[in-house]
Amino acid sequence: MRKISSNRISGLRGRRVSGNGLDPYMDAHKKEGVSVCTTCRAVHERGKWRWTDAPKDSQPMVCPACRRVEDHCPAHLLRIDGVPQEQQHELVAMIHHAADEEARLHPIERLMWLREDKERIEVALTGAHIARRLRAAIARSWRGSFASKLGVEHTELRWKPESKRGGKHAEPTDS
Ligand SMILES: [Zn+2]
Repeated sequence: MRKISSNRISGLRGRRVSGNGLDPYMDAHKKEGVSVCTTCRAVHERGKWRWTDAPKDSQPMVCPACRRVEDHCPAHLLRIDGVPQEQQHELVAMIHHAADEEARLHPIERLMWLREDKERIEVALTGAHIARRLRAAIARSWRGSFASKLGVEHTELRWKPESKRGGKHAEPTDS
């Protein structure tokens, strides 16, 4: 697992939001007409990104999500701590599934990387919207199992040690 030093993180943080409070990755694309990302082929029209065929006169550009991937600069980090080993595999699979689903609907909301070790799962994302979606999906499947802390650029979920996993996947308990 590749570690990012805290210096690197704060360096990244400085670039995520420009001085005027706007996301610099979004600013560059307020163009008229239709644009197409030369990397992923997402199409931008009237403020919306879609997966669709680009008209012939589309302007070539690189979408905010692909630029974040290129720059290694996530918009949001989701950190999940303390998940019991026996739950990790399922949780990671669910995150990938939910992220694929989200990217299918919203081209610039993507998972950039997912790193896991014994202590922590770190998920880097191109937007805050996908972070909220992942958190909601986890909350649905692992109801009551996590304490969460939400921020603009970070979401932290921590497994509650006393947690007995509830929700729809609950295992029957001995009685
Ligand atoms: Zn793209």
